[in-house]
Amino acid sequence: MRIGIFGGTFDPPHFGHLILASEALDQLHLDKVLWTVTADPPHKQEQTISPVNDRLAMVRAALQGNPAFEISQVEIDRPGPHYAVDTVKILQQQYPDAEMIYLIGADSLRDIPTWHRPRELIAQVAGFGVMGRPEVNFDLLDLDSQFPGLTAKVTFIDTPLIQISASLIRERAAACRPYRYFVPYDVFQFIEKKQLYHGFGTEKDFPVEQA
Ligand code: ATP
Repeated sequence: MRIGIFGGTFDPPHFGHLILASEALDQLHLDKVLWTVTADPPHKQEQTISPVNDRLAMVRAALQGNPAFEISQVEIDRPGPHYAVDTVKILQQQYPDAEMIYLIGADSLRDIPTWHRPRELIAQVAGFGVMGRPEVNFDLLDLDSQFPGLTAKVTFIDTPLIQISASLIRERAAACRPYRYFVPYDVFQFIEKKQLYHGFGTEKDFPVEQA
């Protein structure tokens, strides 16, 4: 069994995430994708994040109708901060015979030196499925010199670049600009009903630099 692990804040989940997960399923011959919703993302400590139950509800809505997509509560059922390396270890215990493929956008792969215990994470997974993101360029060979063996584990997923991000959606929702077609309809309805990003754009999200 080959399992894709797709970790994210998913605030909100959008078509970029869904395209990445579905292309990974097909191109990397995965049996399923586990969406691990991060309760307490270590790299987003400065940012206002919607309550985890709202994000879970949106991911549940986004995944409906695809039996190969499952939610994993592994990052919700333990106290934070939630590091990918620990998550993979726990999932490997839950699925001892499975090969684990970690799915990420190119921005996340570029930032891997800042991740917690990256060498251990790289050793643990069978591979990384990486989807390009607009304006993200980096030198994989340079990363490989820091983490020998990384290149051999990376497979780029072949898709058009999708210029959608959760932050763009939050900004648009807050500014009453259209984002309806960036997310599945049920996710759109959830955001609108709860006015989830109504106050987005306060100082906490765009901190004013101190002189
Ligand atoms: P934010 O804009 O708030 O930083 P995001 O849209 O990047 O959020 P996350 O939940 O942080 O969403 O992302 C989870 C994973 O999905 C990350 O590895 C990220 O790189 C990847 N990802 C998100 N959007 C895209 C996209 N449009 N194309 C490719 N990968 C993406």
